[in-house]
Amino acid sequence: MPPRLKAWLLLTWAMLKSLVKRLFGHRGGLAAFRRNYDADGLPPVTADERRDLPTFSRCIACGICDRGEGERIAASGGAYRGVMPLMLSASRSMPDFRAAAYSLSFVTDEVLAEKEKTCPAQVPMRRIAAFLRAKANEVGGPWPLPPHVESLRPPAQP
Ligand code: SF4
Repeated sequence: MPPRLKAWLLLTWAMLKSLVKRLFGHRGGLAAFRRNYDADGLPPVTADERRDLPTFSRCIACGICDRGEGERIAASGGAYRGVMPLMLSASRSMPDFRAAAYSLSFVTDEVLAEKEKTCPAQVPMRRIAAFLRAKANEVGGPWPLPPHVESLRPPAQP
């Protein structure tokens, strides 16, 4: 069978199946989204979160927020690589949020508040951290800490 025809038949079959399911009351929407994507670490975002997302990509990788992070980086046993990697990349890939939340557990909101004051791009670090934690929690929370770094965790966020 020609590939184009096969693709057309498959798409038609999938469309008919979904129309029949809807006709008989099969539930879709958010519940179906969660069923399909939670395992991939992709929770849905709310309208408010969607509105905030463009402000989460302001980081210009200047590195200023990594000043003074040496001790925490060392104490994390490699799990935390500084604030900049979290603001620059870890916060932009939702399937990585559980790992990012684990890394973020080594730095407090108080520290992020101080770093926001010196960030030239006004990156909303605490809002990014809150979003990242919330989304990670929706799909199982931060990845578990290895025992050799568990004892080094800072106190839990309020
Ligand atoms: S100080 Fe701001 S702009 Fe610079 S690396 Fe940190 S988050 Fe990015």
